[in-house]
Amino acid sequence: MLNGKTALVTGSTSGIGLAIAQALAQQGAHVVLNGFGDAAQAVQAVQAARSGDTLVEHHPADMSDPAAIQALMAFTERHVGGVDVLVNNAGIQHVAPVEDFDVVQWDRIIAINLTSAFHTTRLALPGMRKRNWGRILNVASVHGLVASSGKSAYVAAKHGLVGFTKTVALETATTGITCNAICPGWVLTPLVQKQVDARAAERGLPQREAERQLLAEKQPSQAFVTPEQLAAMATFLCSEAAAQVRGVAWTMDGGWTAQ
Ligand code: NAD
Repeated sequence: MLNGKTALVTGSTSGIGLAIAQALAQQGAHVVLNGFGDAAQAVQAVQAARSGDTLVEHHPADMSDPAAIQALMAFTERHVGGVDVLVNNAGIQHVAPVEDFDVVQWDRIIAINLTSAFHTTRLALPGMRKRNWGRILNVASVHGLVASSGKSAYVAAKHGLVGFTKTVALETATTGITCNAICPGWVLTPLVQKQVDARAAERGLPQREAERQLLAEKQPSQAFVTPEQLAAMATFLCSEAAAQVRGVAWTMDGGWTAQ
């Protein structure tokens, strides 16, 4: 379905981004990965999932740095092709009350979770417009729609990302380019594992009990969303069937925002 297209997935060395990259490669797209940690392992995982001989590359741009983002976009264009599918997924979390919130952490969260999507989008759009086709997927969160205590920067960034999604969708509404946001609830990735670990340590709980409590507070299904389920939603949003899905913030959250 995505044969010959080029996909760039930011923050795709683990978790949701890696699963989306695998799904897009399975659909026949060339994929550029990005993110920290074991890049070789991520490349291998995507190569194992791909259909055919599609290219799989990795670029280590720090998504908090506009110059590095520019280098990532230039690398993608030069080594793989102009970006057809842009998945803005890189994200970090920091939890503290507003009055204690570390100022450097605030700036990093806004830069990585929000501003990086502005930079990748502004740099990808001219090529998408030329080809009159594109898919921009912003991995926001339920926290793009509702808030939780202690997550001021994350909630502000994700609400901002949902707003940005709508504006880009309007600016591209008469073209073959769509822009949408995906809003997951709890997914047991390294980002959430840290929160499970913190709860287990603070309250002296076993891991399983910390996970159960985390789910019980917010997610009515009492089950984690999986990266593979989110990747299937991303695949659908890239399909022709989704050509008129524009500017939405689609939840996959076990009922979190239905409450
Ligand atoms: P994760 O920690 O598994 O993955 C984050 C990825 O981003 C990694 O590849 C990491 O290397 C990369 N990254 C972090 N900082 C970066 C930087 N400065 N530059 C480039 N890459 C960077 O987390 P995840 O849960 O898969 O999160 C992916 C996205 O999904 C994030 O935007 C997150 O906010 C969102 N999300 C996650 C959940 C959840 O429950 N896990 C829920 C809703 C939304």
